Amino acid sequence: LPVLATCSCQLSGAVPRRFHHCAPGRAQRLVLSRVFQPQNLREDQVLSLEGKSGDLTCKSQQLMLQVGLIHPASPGCYHLLPYAVRAMEKLVRVIDQEMQAIGGQKVNMPSLSPAELWRATDRWDLMGKELLRLRDRHGKDYCLGPTHEEAITALVASQKKLSYKQLPLLLYQVTRKFRDEPRPRFGLLRGREFYMKDMYTFDSSPEAARQTYGLVCDAYCSLLDRLGLPFIKVQAHVGSVGGTMSHEFQLPVDVGEDRLAICPSCSFSANVETLDVSQTNCPACRGPLTETKGIEVGHTFYLGTKYSSVFNAQFTDVHCKPHLAEMGCYGLGVTRILAAAIEVLSTEDCVRWPCLLAPYQVCLIPPKKGSKEAAATGLTEQLYDHVTEVVPQLRGEMLLDDRAHLTIGNRLKDAKKFGYPYVVIAGKRALEDPAHFEVWHQNAGEVIFLTQEGVVELL
Ligand code: ATP
Ligand code: MG
Ligand code: MG
Ligand code: MG
Repeated sequence: LPVLATCSCQLSGAVPRRFHHCAPGRAQRLVLSRVFQPQNLREDQVLSLEGKSGDLTCKSQQLMLQVGLIHPASPGCYHLLPYAVRAMEKLVRVIDQEMQAIGGQKVNMPSLSPAELWRATDRWDLMGKELLRLRDRHGKDYCLGPTHEEAITALVASQKKLSYKQLPLLLYQVTRKFRDEPRPRFGLLRGREFYMKDMYTFDSSPEAARQTYGLVCDAYCSLLDRLGLPFIKVQAHVGSVGGTMSHEFQLPVDVGEDRLAICPSCSFSANVETLDVSQTNCPACRGPLTETKGIEVGHTFYLGTKYSSVFNAQFTDVHCKPHLAEMGCYGLGVTRILAAAIEVLSTEDCVRWPCLLAPYQVCLIPPKKGSKEAAATGLTEQLYDHVTEVVPQLRGEMLLDDRAHLTIGNRLKDAKKFGYPYVVIAGKRALEDPAHFEVWHQNAGEVIFLTQEGVVELL
């Protein structure tokens, strides 16, 4: 049997490969020239691919197209390219941590959703043209799920022996959602097909449900804090989802499509949709309200028994008596957060990522082929191997810009555009003894010179 000599998983040593969890063999160096990254589309090409006329819309969309994070497929639908997929997978990991820290269990429900479920809540009609509908070969109607309140409630209702001891029950998923938006635009900010994290909670009483509501809101705050994204939590309208209490998590930025009323004197803030439009004074303290624009990245609803009563989702209490579950639902726009983070953090020309989401943490730039410093090429490769050896967290996180026909300056310009948090360059001082590498810490805007061990320590 083939045997792995070294392996980063627990089963190091002479263990047959079929018992290893990790990828076989020694990891190869990741090199930039191999990354699939169609980029630099002209504006008119994008418009024709998207089927639109008019201007390209916002900074994040332009940057994401320019650096090859996304590629237009059809109006409101984008291919996510390798860098974007890496960033999204990291975002999903952070979301999983936050949801599981409050007891969330991950599920995955079908996108194809039978019309009966939607007819039961009247939303087959209420959702109107936003619902993407289709019919199978047997003449049965379906929609492509824009959200999953009906599906999850029917699933929980099918469990006839749900006991109060199993509550609160917090189920969530991260899946594609489909909405026939009247005006898909701004790239991933408003798509017709996008990723959402949607959580649904089941509790034994209104008090318990409100407590769960608070927990999920706190988890959303923690997530956005960890991403370093400034946000405002505002009161919101319940819309077609329904329920009696609702909040949105908004990133204040001009390109945002929502208008938010904020009271500078007290903690009141609301989406203007919820407010009486004639209202210019704070309903809480009567002080004057100010207005700002925001991108809605998350939305929470306290639903009460609106859905559990339709599908008869019940639990039994301590006396084995059945009751309807009190529900909440909680959405987070996963692809929207990616684009919104870029919108908020980036400069006009350079992508900046929340550190936790950067597709690669470090880009290494060896000298140009044939240049005075070319002798330091081997040192960069040695640094790559050494860092990935002694800092296991950086395995798979370092990219070597092997386009040695380009000057260091050109590649540094690209690296700044792509927004790697760290760029390490083997320039003139790499030929000193000991060799010094030039390290750009992009988010801090600093440059320092470090030896190999210094780089390891920093990273
Ligand atoms: P919007 O007001 O922007 O249309 P919504 O209120 O219709 O959003 P919700 O039904 O509350 O959206 O969905 C939960 C989350 O899913 C939103 O807070 C948002 O982050 C994300 N989302 C909604 N629609 C889209 C879309 N078309 N493209 C990308 N993300 C979306
Ligand atoms: Mg909408
Ligand atoms: Mg909204
Ligand atoms: Mg909403």
